[in-house]
Amino acid sequence: MQETTDDPIAALKAILGPSGWVGAGDSAPYATDIMGPGGECLLVARPASTDEVAATVRLCARHGIAIVPQGGNSNVCRMAVPLDGQAAVILSLTRMNRILGIDPASSTATVEAGVLMQTLQEAALAGGRVFAPDWGARGTATVGGAVATNGGGLNVLRYGTTREQVLGLEVVLADGTIWNGLRSLIKDNSGYDLKHLFIGSEGTLGIITRLVFRLHPDQPVTQSMMAVLDDMARLNEFFDMARGIGGEHLVAFELMPGMGVEKALERYPDLRRPLGTRGEWYLLLRFAGLDSVEEPMMRLFEQGFEAGILSDAVLSSSVAQERNLWEIREQMIPYQYFAMPSLKWDVSVPRGRIVEFLDRAGQIVHALRPDAICYAAGHVGDGNIHYTVFVPADSPPAMNDRICTEVDGLIWQMQGSIVAEHGVGAMFAERMRRQKSDVEYAMMRQIKQSLDPDGLMNPGKLLQRN
Ligand SMILES: Cc1cc2nc3c(=O)[nH]c(=O)nc-3n(C[C@H](O)[C@H](O)[C@H](O)COP(=O)(O)OP(=O)(O)OC[C@H]3O[C@@H](n4cnc5c(N)ncnc54)[C@H](O)[C@@H]3O)c2cc1C
Repeated sequence: MQETTDDPIAALKAILGPSGWVGAGDSAPYATDIMGPGGECLLVARPASTDEVAATVRLCARHGIAIVPQGGNSNVCRMAVPLDGQAAVILSLTRMNRILGIDPASSTATVEAGVLMQTLQEAALAGGRVFAPDWGARGTATVGGAVATNGGGLNVLRYGTTREQVLGLEVVLADGTIWNGLRSLIKDNSGYDLKHLFIGSEGTLGIITRLVFRLHPDQPVTQSMMAVLDDMARLNEFFDMARGIGGEHLVAFELMPGMGVEKALERYPDLRRPLGTRGEWYLLLRFAGLDSVEEPMMRLFEQGFEAGILSDAVLSSSVAQERNLWEIREQMIPYQYFAMPSLKWDVSVPRGRIVEFLDRAGQIVHALRPDAICYAAGHVGDGNIHYTVFVPADSPPAMNDRICTEVDGLIWQMQGSIVAEHGVGAMFAERMRRQKSDVEYAMMRQIKQSLDPDGLMNPGKLLQRN
């Protein structure tokens, strides 16, 4: 892996070997994300080992070349492509896709960063274990990306965020040094727990190459209920009921808008309408256990119905029915349904204040733009709602900025966050700055400065460029 030429790109190609890179001319699939093409990509490096990652990073550091780490590029906040004004090497982890071992005795999995989430879920399940992170992009997102974004998803209520699944990490630092923190200890108070710096750091501090995850015992019997939420104001009361009755069996508690359900059923003819009754809001809950969870689920429905919170519900009675319910949930992504400019938030507020947030945000938006469409769906059991406002194409930028500023202000006033689980990327970097106090932002900058003094790791993401 010796550098043999003054041309850094040629040297990188030599380090990586013929199947380890994609040239700039063919880089569009890597350099484009959900928002469209990114900035200039000098080369897509596709290393096959930690040593190759380290050699790539060392060479880039020596030549002052920025690096954009990339997993499955499934992020939704412009995180994993170069930005305009700073050409970069994209470092794709997708060739590092081996499951290195699953240890049933310790209930852990050791994997390379480019393993797909779904691949690890399936491997864990084959051994009677659950790899907890799960969301719609499971077939595209890598475990490295999940950790670098501290992804949330559908199982947070039961198992916590991705952060809580990580026991150890191996990271290539910005100068190419390899930090081996690949431990599988549950307890280790031997100083600062450095892995947490890299979890959720969006590739701005180093490149995660290998990981040790905690696995959980499988709860093989699952059942889901989709219910018409008649009294939205009592959402939290019903959540408490579900927690009380379901206890640890309650795995997921999701809110879906009636408008989204109708659009999904219209657009995807393979989806079956689960309920005769239509509502403005639906809840989708999953219970899981070793044995049947039907009895507590029925009891929950009856209590919710008698209390006047729910007006109708369906309990899945087969795997296919349950899958249908969750496929509807996964089609709650609104961009496919509205061809209008959008403003978006991934809102986190204290769980009991979700309804208040939706009411107040709706009032703010409609006072400014009565014809805007407010769309909300998400993991309300975690106090997290994906909130999108669609505005007519002729809505002036100043008006859209004002809507953004006022809704951001509401979220902060409610002690919330505008970036609950999807992360910051370039899209929210400027707005996130305003969410943080000067003290907190300065600490973040100091961490960045000490681990990446030349600012070459994913510049312009998470933190604003200097
Ligand atoms: C349909 C759909 C549904 C989604 N649902 C959810 C959801 O419910 N919850 C949720 O949290 N997210 C969700 N996402 C967003 C996305 O899937 C997550 O952000 C995911 O964690 C990204 O993983 P990735 O491998 O695609 O990473 P990428 O998109 O490639 O990268 C994401 C960030 O991580 C960095 N990165 C990637 N790999 C590494 C590495 N090995 N080392 C260091 N940095 C790295 C990148 O530089 C970038 O900053 C959804 C996306 C889609 C398309």
